[in-house]
Amino acid sequence: MTMAGIFVNRLAVVGVGLIGGSLVRALRRAGAVGEVVGVDLDRENLLRAKQFGVVDRCAESLADGVGGADLVFVSVPVCAIPSVVRDLVPHLAPGTIVTDGGSVKGEIVAACEALMPPGAHFVGGHPIAGTEHSGVEASFATLYEGKRCIVTPTSRTDAAALETVVRIWEAVGSEVVLMDAEKHDRLVAAISHLPHMVAYALVNAVEGYDRLGEGVLQYSAGGFRDFTRIASSDPAMWRDIALMNREGVLEMMDHFAAYFATLRAMVAAGDADGLERFFRESKESRDAIL
Ligand code: NAP
Repeated sequence: MTMAGIFVNRLAVVGVGLIGGSLVRALRRAGAVGEVVGVDLDRENLLRAKQFGVVDRCAESLADGVGGADLVFVSVPVCAIPSVVRDLVPHLAPGTIVTDGGSVKGEIVAACEALMPPGAHFVGGHPIAGTEHSGVEASFATLYEGKRCIVTPTSRTDAAALETVVRIWEAVGSEVVLMDAEKHDRLVAAISHLPHMVAYALVNAVEGYDRLGEGVLQYSAGGFRDFTRIASSDPAMWRDIALMNREGVLEMMDHFAAYFATLRAMVAAGDADGLERFFRESKESRDAIL
């Protein structure tokens, strides 16, 4: 990795968990950031962030954290992002850039852009990288390396602010893709939100299957565990995503239900050719992305 040189003098991170903590670790590794101030509802998590050297200072309040920052990164659960941004706006220095890492973009970008006072700029972002773990202890410097980050400018986005946000994600090794926020939400509904809904439903369905008596899950092996890894993700985070990207998630759940119904019909009919074709097409698509 090449050293970027400091281009963010003071970074405020609101929500120093997996996503915020990993961004700071990666920016430090790239030599791109000066002082880092952390803000977090979870005081214990914030103190650990200081202990681990992720933040230089724990803010006493949102005002204390974001005042004087040239960049504010908001990485709290998606439903909280607009209200956090509303609360931090009065404390922004002129010229501050506010950006986020939330997994849903349409509602967040519209709300946060409208909240910006003259001279401050909002740019939405979403790193397509993560794990099923939460908190600063789960963060690591290489999370974003070789991954994509979707940045969602609008017709009102300040060009220099956009350039800085793109530079941040490139400095941590990501490939930046610029995309309209609504398109982003439809895309992630398909590649991320639907798989989480299916994984959560699958675990509950198998756990709730009691025709064989208790303890079905204890017999689960590699396949079940690989498939359902993401059902260990933070329930509050996924509650927020399902609520905020409701339309996109529902559209993909219906789309999936249609495919599942087709598969069920083939099993019911004993359609060997149909089943093999269905599985072959799926295998070819998956093999192609690996
Ligand atoms: P996380 O590890 O749980 O970290 C979030 C931190 O923010 C927690 O310490 C949380 O405290 C704190 N927080 C919650 N509400 C707050 C508020 N109003 N003000 C200040 N701090 C607050 O979560 P994460 O996985 O980093 O996710 C952060 C964001 O990144 C979410 O918007 C998520 O959609 C997005 N994202 C996540 C992933 C992923 O794989 N995890 C991938 C891409 C994007 P409490 O625990 O007390 O609530």
